[in-house]
Amino acid sequence: MELEEILKDEPAFRIEQVEKAIFQDLITNWDKASNLPKALKEKLNKELPLEIKADVLVSQKGISIKIALLLKDGLKAEAVLMRHKAGRNTVCVSSQVGCAMGCIFCLTGKGGLRRSLTAWEIIQQVLFFERILKTEGPERSRRITNIVFMGMGEPLLNYDSVLLAINILNNKNCFGISVRKISISTVGIPWAIKKLAKEKIRPASNAFGPPALRAGVANAGWPNLAVSLHTANQTLRAKIMPIAKNHNLDELSRAIDFYIKETGQRVIFEYLMLKGINDSEKDAFDLAQFVKQFKAPANFRAGKNFHFVNLITYNDFKSQDILVFKPSFKEKVLMFKEILSESGIDAVQRYKFGEDIKGACGQLAYEK
Ligand code: SF4
Repeated sequence: MELEEILKDEPAFRIEQVEKAIFQDLITNWDKASNLPKALKEKLNKELPLEIKADVLVSQKGISIKIALLLKDGLKAEAVLMRHKAGRNTVCVSSQVGCAMGCIFCLTGKGGLRRSLTAWEIIQQVLFFERILKTEGPERSRRITNIVFMGMGEPLLNYDSVLLAINILNNKNCFGISVRKISISTVGIPWAIKKLAKEKIRPASNAFGPPALRAGVANAGWPNLAVSLHTANQTLRAKIMPIAKNHNLDELSRAIDFYIKETGQRVIFEYLMLKGINDSEKDAFDLAQFVKQFKAPANFRAGKNFHFVNLITYNDFKSQDILVFKPSFKEKVLMFKEILSESGIDAVQRYKFGEDIKGACGQLAYEK
């Protein structure tokens, strides 16, 4: 990250001062960092300006806010803040501008991949919302509590930047968001899932500067992994998600099994319900069978079910750009829930946020 380079000749304590200024004081201009020397403030203002430019859209009920972050090269990365009734504030971040995965139901995938984001560009999305929440009150409850890498792009194909961003999010001097409250949603890139399984976010690992200078993280562990499965039928999956042509369900299953064994954590499955495509009774039984193949490791915390599926409602929007699907009928969703529940699988229908601001799943797209 650029900051590491900028601070390399500075005394060790500068790192903490700078982290505090960015992430706790939430300053928007380095001139406001009163404890930094003038020359360093000037350098930071030039090389790492804190101003974040973004277009902002607020949903009618005000419970979600979408931003299009304006990047240095003129591209835009979109992110959404979702305020939950229970006081949680979740930010859905993008890891890339556009996406190379080409899932046929997704507006983001339609435009292809423009480029991957840097860790700082990912962090800026969160910082922007943290600043908005700060204006609503000083209490910790008004801060961001959860992060989902579920915006534009495939996070595991921007692996290094996403990992660095997670370290910064998790770092207690920065955002202090526990790694257990951070989720990565992936179409399922087997090699990257296996790599991630070996990358425990450890107390020694930190955001900036050499390890000896770094403070502790908020929590050690792995981010939650959510696999966008969308069907347990290989032939259908290859039709709707091109990634499945290169990595079939058997290969994906082996990677998921490895992740579970290495981390002791469960993997969540995402299932977008498309009318007449993947919502038959057989589809539900196939899904249950696929999910149940994974066994809970001995160290898995008792008290919650190991198997978990998010049933996602398709957002019915009009677009000339992609083949438009229809959301499954309510009865089909209930049928899925019942079949999954009878198989001992927790199934939750994902609440839809921000349809009116195109902030819902599969609607984040590069806009010309
Ligand atoms: Fe990419 Fe996700 Fe859209 Fe698929 S659904 S094209 S992985 S952004």
